[in-house]
Amino acid sequence: MILKDGYNASADWDEIARDLHPVSVNDDPVLIRKRSRDFFWYSPLLNAQLRYCFGNLVALPGSADEMSRCLSTACKHVIPVILRGGGTGNYGQSVPLMGGLIIDTTGMSKIISIGDETICVESGALMADINAALLRHGREMAMYPSTQDMATIGGFVAGGSSGIGSVANGVLRDKGNIIQIKALSVEEEPREHVFNAEESLHVHHAWGINGAITQVTLRTVPARNWIGCMATFDSYQKCYAAGYALAESQKIGRKLCSTVDARIAEYFPRLKGHLREGMHLLLALVPKEDMPKFDRFIAGQGGNLDLAMTERQLKAANLPQLHEFAYNHTTLQILKADRSATYQQIGVRDASCDSDVAAVAEVLGDDVWPHHEFARVNGRILAFDLPIIWFSDERRLREIDSIYAEHGHHVADAHSFHIEGGGMKNADYRHLAWKKRLDPLGLLNPGKSRTWEKVRHLSASEIESMQPDDGK
Ligand SMILES: Cc1cc2nc3c(=O)[nH]c(=O)nc-3n(C[C@H](O)[C@H](O)[C@H](O)COP(=O)(O)OP(=O)(O)OC[C@H]3O[C@@H](n4cnc5c(N)ncnc54)[C@H](O)[C@@H]3O)c2cc1C
Repeated sequence: MILKDGYNASADWDEIARDLHPVSVNDDPVLIRKRSRDFFWYSPLLNAQLRYCFGNLVALPGSADEMSRCLSTACKHVIPVILRGGGTGNYGQSVPLMGGLIIDTTGMSKIISIGDETICVESGALMADINAALLRHGREMAMYPSTQDMATIGGFVAGGSSGIGSVANGVLRDKGNIIQIKALSVEEEPREHVFNAEESLHVHHAWGINGAITQVTLRTVPARNWIGCMATFDSYQKCYAAGYALAESQKIGRKLCSTVDARIAEYFPRLKGHLREGMHLLLALVPKEDMPKFDRFIAGQGGNLDLAMTERQLKAANLPQLHEFAYNHTTLQILKADRSATYQQIGVRDASCDSDVAAVAEVLGDDVWPHHEFARVNGRILAFDLPIIWFSDERRLREIDSIYAEHGHHVADAHSFHIEGGGMKNADYRHLAWKKRLDPLGLLNPGKSRTWEKVRHLSASEIESMQPDDGK
């Protein structure tokens, strides 16, 4: 075996396919190309860097035993392994940078058990299916991303952070939301490790670099009859202030609360005729019983409630579900019309301060259009701006980042494929210590952690004892 950068440079993919038996494999070059992509093309910078990165073979395990077979085969042949759920990540998290075996987990989709306040599922289950199963028990997921129709729970836990429900129930990393994660190591004989609630942060948001998640147990909440609401405002500042007040409200239930600049709303053609034109938009999912209060609340904030429909009514009116205008779906609505747009991820300095939001908008200029999501993080309401940016070049993108930073906002760069490049900034040494334990050869998702190469020669406990700035 000839090793290059620690991987087998002379891998025989026919032999690997045979060794994977009885796991289904697919070597169709078109399918391999499709399974090598995610939504990195949201970023022109990532698009230039990642568009020609492809894997060599796709494996489709249907159970944890078959996943184990994939991992032991990868270990025997010393090949990179890329775990992939729905492939809806935005930063190339599931793109193979050095070729390798793509493990498509969507065949591992069993719902294992539904408890009074929990659900246990295989990692490849789609979140829309999980929610449908829960609904029959009068429950729903505490939060789910706007990609629930395509995205898996394993991908959400490994690559996501928050979503619809977070304004009420917190983000994934908040205590009590993830109850247990089971993951397999990449060794000739893979071992199962069970991470309890406290330990789940060791694998949560690790981008599949430190273990193959096979099973997840999550908290659920009572299902409610949610009404999709769209209210319009004549100024973005007023709209944002109403969004914050709703997010903080103790009296009105809500599982989604987003505000969208009027210029972005122009790109929602299917809503034409349903909303006042040229107005800023507040999107909310509100329980039916709270609608009279919500109606009064919107009027009190100086807005108009233009649309209020149940899921069924939206379908009957041939309108998309509300979440298709929220989170990164807002960006997608623009990208459907014009690929010269991109976005950024900004943590607002003080969510309660709508004048801050107005002040930074004044300085930013016409190529940046605001869109905010409100979420409860560790008990506090925070606001995240996912602005539309009309991309000219990297220099201007970084100038925009600096303007946000100078105003005290936190930039979580959406244009980096390194795990340390986004919201985390520093290496997460817990993630890397578990990588050493569960993936000693460093086969999982190579190239995604900048820090791994600096620490891979250390023991797991040495890595774990490092401090956030040690790797700089
Ligand atoms: C339009 C749009 C809207 C979005 N909205 C949201 C949102 O509301 N909230 C949010 O948090 N994100 C959002 N995202 C990002 C993404 O959709 C979610 O994070 C989603 O949950 C990812 O799931 P997936 O199955 O597609 O994962 P993938 O993209 O397939 O994988 C994501 C990461 O997880 C790893 N992974 C996958 N499966 C496993 C496994 N079994 N074990 C270990 N690692 C694994 C992969 O290697 C990769 O690093 C959005 C993206 C788009 C394009």
